Amino acid sequence: NDNDKERFADMIRHSQRIVAFTGAGISTESGIPDFRSAGGLFDRLSGRHFSGEETLSIGFLEMYPKLFFRNYAEHFDFSQALPNAAHRFFAALEQTGKEVTIVTQNIDNLHQSAGSSDVIELHGNGTRWRTFDTAEPAYAAEIRMDAQGIQRDPQGRVVRPDIVLYGEMLDEQTMERAAAAIGAADMLVVIGTSLAVYPAASFVHYFKGPYAVLLNRTPVPQSLSFQLAIRTDAGAFLADVWQEYFAK
Ligand code: NAD
Repeated sequence: NDNDKERFADMIRHSQRIVAFTGAGISTESGIPDFRSAGGLFDRLSGRHFSGEETLSIGFLEMYPKLFFRNYAEHFDFSQALPNAAHRFFAALEQTGKEVTIVTQNIDNLHQSAGSSDVIELHGNGTRWRTFDTAEPAYAAEIRMDAQGIQRDPQGRVVRPDIVLYGEMLDEQTMERAAAAIGAADMLVVIGTSLAVYPAASFVHYFKGPYAVLLNRTPVPQSLSFQLAIRTDAGAFLADVWQEYFAK
């Protein structure tokens, strides 16, 4: 309701350092399904033999590369997706002189496409590829699948998406940057995440500032106490807030 929008806008006005902590839900309005909503990716990936989580694990990639990459090509092609009003909100906020950091669990690159300049990707970036052994960047356009279903670069080196799979560790430096940004923020906006994936979800606990807000379509087990918890579609909500309170 309007009161929520006004309180949210007020918190932004009173904050200089703002962190948006985002999950798959911020990208559903860009046409990318999340994992845990009904009809989300986990429903589509899970088959008779494997859970959705298993099909996105490092063990699965090593054991069944062909199946892994078939799933990946079918469900993780973000090349046609465009940022929505929620991604654009934070890019625009940066232009007003606020220090805005995005800490995202997403791998879809949409915060960068929207124009955010400080994006910390806890789970990597699915539009980037790297060599399996030496973690050198590989160029998506040059990657080919061999007869065994293994993805290779032009030199024949095995490559993989530059993402953190289930069963893999998060990058140490990335975690430190995320913790520092959240720990120094006046305002934390948690958007579109079930806060079910660890350790990512635990990062919200670094927050010590006065204004914590949750924008989520469905209720989330609230491990952090939020000053404002709004059940809403983030893109629609933030488009309204921008229009009513920040657009000149
Ligand atoms: P999740 O699927 O577990 O939870 C998404 C949450 O967002 C749900 O609670 C849902 O109700 C809510 N939601 C859906 N649409 C919304 C909207 N328009 N506005 C507000 N809330 C909305 O997602 P998660 O917590 O991010 O965990 C999933 C993991 O999978 C993450 O690690 C993430 O990296 C990855 N993932 C990424 C993408 C992507 O890059 N776009 C997509 C799917 C999954």
